[in-house]
Amino acid sequence: DAAKESREPFRRYVPELDDRAGEEAQLGAELRTALDAGQFRLVYQPIVELPHGRIYDVETLVRWEHPDRGTVGPAEFIPAAERNGLIVELGAWILREACRQGARWVAELGRDAPERITVNASARQLAQRGFAAVVGAALRESGLSATRLTVEVTETAVFEGGQAIATLHELRALGVRIALDDFGTGHSSLGLLQTVPVDVLKVDKSFVDNITMAGRHAVIATALIQVADGLGLTAVAEGVETSEQAAELQRLGYRFAQGYHFGRPVARPDFRAGAPGDRDRTVAPAGAESRV
Ligand code: C2E
Ligand code: MG
Ligand code: MG
Ligand code: MG
Repeated sequence: DAAKESREPFRRYVPELDDRAGEEAQLGAELRTALDAGQFRLVYQPIVELPHGRIYDVETLVRWEHPDRGTVGPAEFIPAAERNGLIVELGAWILREACRQGARWVAELGRDAPERITVNASARQLAQRGFAAVVGAALRESGLSATRLTVEVTETAVFEGGQAIATLHELRALGVRIALDDFGTGHSSLGLLQTVPVDVLKVDKSFVDNITMAGRHAVIATALIQVADGLGLTAVAEGVETSEQAAELQRLGYRFAQGYHFGRPVARPDFRAGAPGDRDRTVAPAGAESRV
């Protein structure tokens, strides 16, 4: 009826707004508690060197072990942590923990240790004046060499310029490498390369997905490896899921790749498995992620 029709949008709208604000506040509070209670843990996804599949680098990815909901992926809480500012403290913990783990692997594994370790940083962290100091402290406390650390940022995080760009210069001055994540999907991908200090281009999964199909699909992946080579940057292909994709990327000149085909994010990757002379990761199927 008419009364119901006129009422319904209003009744639906207001409670939802309330709920969303309430949910956001509750999630924010829960994240705070989770950090204090030690409910976050890190997993590491291999970035391998083609063709032999040796693990060259690992990307650090955060997980939330929620007491009731089980393992929660970062897509569900990193945006909220950015909005309420907790990402600054959570991100500092992630950096300290990742650097500590990297240093432990170097001490324990020697030449089998990954050459590098990569940590994601969000826009809010880069916009902080003290971020490079936080990174510097994590390196000093852990004993990890700055040359072993890569900080991975998205194009959108550096698009605004200002302090974010200044932070990247400070990180580079420490000896840390900068990677541009999801490269090619942002606002001004190629333009950014003229102004942003960067060492690694992570070519987005969307350019890898159909790379083995005839036609136009491989054109951008081909162009991006040429851009990277021409600028003296390292290209990493993301989201590689099949041996066919790996072979095609190698044919196009890619030296580094990451994706479920080579390994899921895990607490401890099998660093010895891809060493030259051992199993060939370009043809071996990837194991399932034991605990996402
Ligand atoms: P990202 O940095 O682009 O990370 C790659 C994401 O793609 C990861 O999801 C990874 O598990 C997934 N992935 C890797 N290989 C494949 C593949 O072959 N196929 C498919 N379908 N997916 C693949 P995850 O761990 O859920 O992370 C999602 C996003 O959350 C990350 O995207 C990153 O933006 C953010 N994130 C994760 N950890 C952190 C962190 O410690 N700090 C910050 N600031 N952000 C983080
Ligand atoms: Mg990343
Ligand atoms: Mg990525
Ligand atoms: Mg991504």
